[in-house]
Amino acid sequence: MTQTFPIEALKKKATPYYYYNIELLRQTLDAVKAEVSKHDNYFVHYAIKANANPVVLKPIMKAGLGIDCVSGGEITASLKAGFPADKIVFAGVGKADWEIEMGIDNNIFCFNVESIPELEVINEIAQRKGKVVNICLRINPNVGAHTHANITTGLSENKFGIDMAHMFDVIKMANEMSNVSFQGLHFHIGSQILEMDDFIALCHRVNELQDKLDAQGIKVKIINVGGGLGVDYDDPIGNPLPPLKEYFDVYNTHLKLRAGQELHFELGRAIVAQCGSLITKVLYMKDNTNKKFAIVDAGFTELIRPALYGAHHKIMNLTSNGPQDTYDVVGPICESSDTFDTDIKLNEVRRGDLIAMLSAGAYGEAMASCYNCRKLPKGYSSEDIMAE
Ligand SMILES: *Cc1c(COP(=O)(O)O)cnc(C)c1O
Repeated sequence: MTQTFPIEALKKKATPYYYYNIELLRQTLDAVKAEVSKHDNYFVHYAIKANANPVVLKPIMKAGLGIDCVSGGEITASLKAGFPADKIVFAGVGKADWEIEMGIDNNIFCFNVESIPELEVINEIAQRKGKVVNICLRINPNVGAHTHANITTGLSENKFGIDMAHMFDVIKMANEMSNVSFQGLHFHIGSQILEMDDFIALCHRVNELQDKLDAQGIKVKIINVGGGLGVDYDDPIGNPLPPLKEYFDVYNTHLKLRAGQELHFELGRAIVAQCGSLITKVLYMKDNTNKKFAIVDAGFTELIRPALYGAHHKIMNLTSNGPQDTYDVVGPICESSDTFDTDIKLNEVRRGDLIAMLSAGAYGEAMASCYNCRKLPKGYSSEDIMAE
C-alpha cells in the first residue's frame, strides 16, 4: 500500500482540510488485529485524543477496538461513534467531578486513576450513586523514552500517575474503599517512541513491581501498558505501517504476565497518523534575497506539531512536475513559529498549487484551534471525496 492522492477530487474542496485515506486506516487496523489475535488476553483501546473525527472513529469501532478517553467530551464522542461503554477506559490527571459522574452514569469499563485525591472523589461519587466502579491505578514507572521532552510522560518529574513508592499504600486504600474495585495497574511512558528498548525498560519495571505484589499476595487482573508507538514521519510513503509486529513481540517476550492476567494497550498515533494528510493551497510565492517562501493557506491553527514539538511532516506538491527548488513552507498566522518546514525540496511551487502534509492523522485536526478567528478545518474520508 502506498499513499496516493485523488488529485482531481481533492481540487474540488475548499482548502485547508484534512484528507483521510480510509483504505490505509483499514490496513493498519488489520495489521493490529493480526498481532492481537495471536493472544486471547490482549486488548487494544484506541486513544481518541489522537483524532476524534467520526470518519476515522467508525472503521476503528468496526474493527472491534476499545477506546481510551481523557475527558468527558471524549466519552461523549466515543459513545456517539458507537463504541460500547464497557470498552471505554478513562485516564487523565485532572478529571472534573462532572466527567467522573459521566463515566459512572454510562458504566464505562474502567477509570485509570492518577492520584489519591482522585481515588477518594471517585469512591465518594460512586457511593452517592450506589455503584461500584472498576479502577486501575496509573503508576509512574520512572522510565524515560527517547522522544521529544514535551511527550515523555513516564518520568517521576512528569505530572502523570502515582509514585511507585506509594503503590502499596494506594492499593490498600482502594481495597478498603466500598465503591471502587481495584482491577490492576496502568502505565504510559510517552509518545512517538520507535526505540523498542524503551518499551522493554517498561516491561522490566512492570515485572519488578509484579514480583513485589506477588510477595504481598496482591492479585492484579489487568496490566495496561498505555500507548506511545511511533510512526515514520520521514518516509511515510515507504513505511505506511508502524512496526506493530516488533511492538507486540516486545511485550510478548519481555513482560511476564501472571496466570489469567489481561494485557491492555492504548495506541493512538500508530493507528491514525499515516492515514491523514493536511491539504493546503499555495497563496503566494515570496522571493527574498536568500529564501523562497511558499505561503500556504494552512497554519499552525490546522497543524501545530511543527510549532509545538519541532516536528517535521513530509510535504509534497501535488500539482507540479516543475524542476525542484528549495523552499520554506509557511502559514498565514501572525507568529514566526507558523512555519511548517525550512529549506525543503519541492517541485517548482506556484500560486494555486495543492500541497499535502503527510502523516498528519494524529494530533493534527484534534489539536486545531481558532486563533486569529480562523475556522476549524474539516476532515473528509477518501470514500466521501471519491463519491462526489
Ligand atoms: C496519549 C495517550 C495515549 C496514546 O498515545 P500515543 O502516543 O498516541 O499512542 C495512551 N494512553 C494515555 C493515557 C495517553 O494519555
